Amino acid sequence: MGCVRGYLCPLVCYGDSGGLEDLLMAQHQECEYDVVVIGAGGAGLRAAIEAATKGVSVGLICKSLLGKAHTVMAEGGVAAALANVDDRDNWKVHFADTMRGGHYLNAWRMAELHAKEAPERVRELEAWGALMDRTPDGRINQRNFGGHAYPRLAHVGDRTGLEMIRTLQDHGIHEGIDVHMEVTVSKLLMDGSRCAGALAYDRELGRFKVFKAKAVVMATGGIGRAFLVTSNSWEYTGDGHALAYHAGAELVDMEFVQFHPTGMVWPPSVRGILVTEGVRGEGGILKNSEGRRFMFDDVPALYKGSTADTPEEGWRYVVGDREARRPPELLTRDHVARKIVKEVQAGRGSPHGGAFLDIAWIQEHIKDSEGHIKKKLPSMYHQFKELAGIDITKEPMEVGPTTHYVMGGIRVEPDSQMSTTVPGLFAAGECAAGLHGANRLGGNSLSDLLVFGKRAGEYAADFAGKNTSAHIQDEQIDLAVREALAPLERDPGADVGPYRLQYELQQLMQDKAGIAREEDGLGEALNELQQLKTRAQAMGVGGSREYNPGWHTTLDLHSLLTVSEAVVMAAQARKESRGAHSRPDYLDKDPDWGTVNLVLQKGHDGEMELRKEVIPEIPEDLQNIIKEQG
Ligand code: FAD
Repeated sequence: MGCVRGYLCPLVCYGDSGGLEDLLMAQHQECEYDVVVIGAGGAGLRAAIEAATKGVSVGLICKSLLGKAHTVMAEGGVAAALANVDDRDNWKVHFADTMRGGHYLNAWRMAELHAKEAPERVRELEAWGALMDRTPDGRINQRNFGGHAYPRLAHVGDRTGLEMIRTLQDHGIHEGIDVHMEVTVSKLLMDGSRCAGALAYDRELGRFKVFKAKAVVMATGGIGRAFLVTSNSWEYTGDGHALAYHAGAELVDMEFVQFHPTGMVWPPSVRGILVTEGVRGEGGILKNSEGRRFMFDDVPALYKGSTADTPEEGWRYVVGDREARRPPELLTRDHVARKIVKEVQAGRGSPHGGAFLDIAWIQEHIKDSEGHIKKKLPSMYHQFKELAGIDITKEPMEVGPTTHYVMGGIRVEPDSQMSTTVPGLFAAGECAAGLHGANRLGGNSLSDLLVFGKRAGEYAADFAGKNTSAHIQDEQIDLAVREALAPLERDPGADVGPYRLQYELQQLMQDKAGIAREEDGLGEALNELQQLKTRAQAMGVGGSREYNPGWHTTLDLHSLLTVSEAVVMAAQARKESRGAHSRPDYLDKDPDWGTVNLVLQKGHDGEMELRKEVIPEIPEDLQNIIKEQG
């Protein structure tokens, strides 16, 4: 698949000969832009739009088709303190909620920018044509979500991501952006320590493309495919994390992988598919096999005012002198996920190892509850009807934790989103770290994409304007091409094959670095990862470069192994339980870890190195906001 607009790239021919040389000497395309954006989800599209608006040339690369990025799957909504449903909401409350949800490990400046700028970004999206659900008086409607003090998530039923991508795509296409679809970046190209572009191959015919750029924005999403049970699509193999790491970028907070409490658990073929928090936001309650609503069992002291009233009257909870509507099912995701696991371990789980999520109960309180559920949760209704034969307007769903999101990622400067160590490389969205700390609040990802996608695009364009073109040596390109082609040259029969190896990796991460990790398991995981790495490096695949998903999988494995090692190393180092990181052998939070980030970087010997860094003190004005908000 070439450029969408038919952009003519000059072809650079390496010649013609046989065997490996034949492959190596295959021609590649060269494309040059001021800014290259890798990834066309919400973050990438928003960055590309902003850069193009600044008048620089922009190339946008995506592994799948435009419009198919993961963002399209987002369901529940985008968090922004618009105060349309509860006028007590404002950026300060949103900031404090985000910091509390992140257990104060967040990059506080990012949390501040995010809370301040999210409302403007959402209104802008609406001005570009996004059609959100409305309040009776015609304003953007907002729903409750875990950890948010007030109804804050602007939404379109449970298809918010689809509307967001549609809008950004429609808007972006008119900004003169060149789109390269079904093209996978396999290596960042450098000019010294500066990022100067990327090598990529098209997934159809395996032809190489060299992208030269003055600035590169990484927006490749998450790492969920490193685990067996996940809500993430096939694209989420941690490519951006790994590409940036191997180019010298720092990774931070990698121990914090979010296990969403409610994924499907049955039938096995759909295990892990997300059941949006929107179900709980619309009144869904969790019960164990005894029919008991177990989320009231140990509500954290902060939320002790929670009561289980009817939906019409609203659920109440009290923090300090503030009262809001929220049931205990909408405590933060880390807490709810652990509670479900506890019920299962105590033998009170559902038949297939989860808990019951019941939205049908609202029929006792709401007229036409069936119509209401179908209107507010249309995708969930169809998902369960078609995949599990369950009518959620009448019966409870069976749900359990699923790997969902990674808080960790490329370490960036908060205002500009430039990598802390690689000039010219910017990152935004799920592959960047900082905003969410130890645990992300639902809805804060979509607003993250908009706020920091815009910022990354703006600063990347600025960087491109201030810097001349970088130089990429031919030898570097040759080496990157050789590395990518190496699996095709090796004996395919020597090991189990790339899919099986990926499965082994996923099983390992699920068992030993999943929702509860312990010292012994993590130590074993590190050793086993080294073995998997050795096997992956020797892995061969059959066939040619054309239409060869086996070859693509061997290349994805390189990224998956890198991010898995980062997760395990950081999880082993953090000897406490905090947010999404749960260590049964260190059950409590340790105050000594309360101000520490773990930073990973490639050492001079090529090995992954880890260090602790103390988070800079939160400025007084922001500290006061946190205190005031309770
Ligand atoms: P993505 O949207 O995943 O885009 C990544 C892009 O990078 C894709 O275009 C991909 O093709 C490309 N790419 C990846 N690797 C390469 C490579 N090597 N070369 C070239 N291109 C590459 N968050 C919320 O805030 N609210 C919600 O309601 C919500 N619901 C969710 C529901 C589901 C089912 C899931 C899984 C997540 C949900 N999230 C939600 C989280 C949120 O959707 C994601 O965190 C967010 O969409 C990530 O956006 P992104 O732009 O960073 O990456």
